[in-house]
Amino acid sequence: MDERLPPGLYVVATPIGNLADLSPRAAETLRRADRILAEDKRVSAKLLAHAGARAPMAVYQDHTSEAEREAIVARLGGEAIALISDAGTPLISDPGYKLVRAARAAGHAVHTVPGPCAAIAALTLAGLPTDRFLFLGFLPPKAKARGDAIAEVAGVRATLVIYESGPRLGATLEALAAQLGAREAAVAREISKLHEECVTGTLAELAQRYAAAPPRGEIVIVVGPPAAAEGASQSDLDSALGEALARLSPSRAAAEVAERLGVPRKRAYARALQLAAR
Ligand code: SAM
Repeated sequence: MDERLPPGLYVVATPIGNLADLSPRAAETLRRADRILAEDKRVSAKLLAHAGARAPMAVYQDHTSEAEREAIVARLGGEAIALISDAGTPLISDPGYKLVRAARAAGHAVHTVPGPCAAIAALTLAGLPTDRFLFLGFLPPKAKARGDAIAEVAGVRATLVIYESGPRLGATLEALAAQLGAREAAVAREISKLHEECVTGTLAELAQRYAAAPPRGEIVIVVGPPAAAEGASQSDLDSALGEALARLSPSRAAAEVAERLGVPRKRAYARALQLAAR
């Protein structure tokens, strides 16, 4: 019988597809916890059986109420509570941030048991620069909001990491190609599972490949940083376009600004259309 853990919140990373990636420490923490918070009890039951964990499970999700969260925090003084998500690292495009914050504010111990995370795993596969990266999570599903989100990071000199689903992959790659130009990118799919693959190419090549045939499974898109000349900041681009749009059509404004700032014409045009529509 495993000894109980000291009270506090334990954030435990779990596999993103391959059960063998559950670390011995993660399994031990789950076995020794007094209570386990999971997004979906059915999804986590298999993992907990694999780990030999028998503690009672409760559901913790993004829409868990403030009162329920306070009730969990109140237990942390006397219980070791483990937080897991359906897969990967809790808090990373998954619930948990508010709980960790509330636990800290109440002065409870917070521990992490690090492990699999799809964003980090994709970076290790893509062969793109890893010295600076920006994790964007899921982009908004609607075209306008997605375009704005891409425009906001277009000038950032870092590799971009984006979570996506198969049915939306083609449209997202197309928007990225239109707004970011000819950057190198990778589509990492089903990482650590039987059909793991990582396809690399320019954004336009990948957009074309996946346009007609949306792939199955879970996906991370990794986009390399802009070439030196493409790196005008978004605010530089917006103010130059704002000024040019007062005189010119979107396409002429984009051509002028692209030339002047050295940014890809497609990026300037996509942004000019967005600004003109406001
Ligand atoms: N917290 C998780 C983590 O640490 O990666 C992410 C949870 S988020 C709700 C789920 C998304 O992560 C999926 O839509 C996909 O973009 C990505 N993902 C999760 N597992 C993956 C895998 N095995 N291969 C590729 N992407 C994966």
